[in-house]
Amino acid sequence: MKVVTTIAELKHYVHQAKKEQKSIGLVPTMGYLHDGHLTLARTAKAENDIVIMSIFVNPTQFGPNEDFESYPRDLPRDTELAKSAGVDLIFAPSVEEMYPSDGGIKLVAGRQSTILCGASRPGHFDGVVQVVAKLFHLAEPTRAYFGQKDAQQVAIIETMVRDFNFPLEITTIPIVREEDGLAKSSRNVYLSEQERAEAPAIFAALNLAKAHFLQTKNAEEAIALAEKHITENTAGRIDYLQFLSYPDLAVVTPQTEKFLLAVAVYVGKTRLIDNLIFSLKGE
Ligand code: AMP
Repeated sequence: MKVVTTIAELKHYVHQAKKEQKSIGLVPTMGYLHDGHLTLARTAKAENDIVIMSIFVNPTQFGPNEDFESYPRDLPRDTELAKSAGVDLIFAPSVEEMYPSDGGIKLVAGRQSTILCGASRPGHFDGVVQVVAKLFHLAEPTRAYFGQKDAQQVAIIETMVRDFNFPLEITTIPIVREEDGLAKSSRNVYLSEQERAEAPAIFAALNLAKAHFLQTKNAEEAIALAEKHITENTAGRIDYLQFLSYPDLAVVTPQTEKFLLAVAVYVGKTRLIDNLIFSLKGE
């Protein structure tokens, strides 16, 4: 496995792979890898000749008072883990390498980016589409891999791929969880022992709401149940807890076939997100 930090080296590698007619799976990450990232890499490896993983804490998707500076970073550890998951090339650029100018042109994500995480993190998804569009151009993937953990991000990237005709396929993998149900996240290292012990209540609350909704079709009651579970079992503050249709992220109607039940909770200073996606049959 190779680790490269410059765009020139990445392009050289991609050029060679294309010449050999190899398919390329791209796994974009911000590093500090856990089993969610590694499952993405293993899935990409099973479906492509070559796997490129980007490791880049992208400043343009962080707000001014967010955790860009303190976001956990450990490239030597990530390198070992990525290698074990079958990654062929890590692209780990510096901020200056990715953004050599102060950006005369901006991409702006559309309607799907103004709600849920976009409402409390203004500009976040503009930064996401900016970096993902660049990575798509540079790595020229046959397929790109994303986690359902960031369901809104997947929906927005799928829209970008459709609207801008990126010649690639998007593949999504289910959320990888700890044994007690907490969704794996690089940010889980921020949690104190007490916060970590309380955090699985978020997933439990989603399951309670889903079960109630499937039985009664009453979204308001289902949300109230989940809110109660979170407030009674954690010291967390709910940012949002909402049913939407998926993947268009619109208000639920009697015609909605696929539901997204999404939550964000501030547990201490750490913002945790989680979600369930299901049909009326519960699948
Ligand atoms: P991040 O490094 O947090 O930007 O995540 C990189 C990719 O890994 C994104 O596509 C995430 O959705 C995905 N991911 C992060 N956590 C998980 C998880 N627990 N299960 C599945 N995918 C995940």
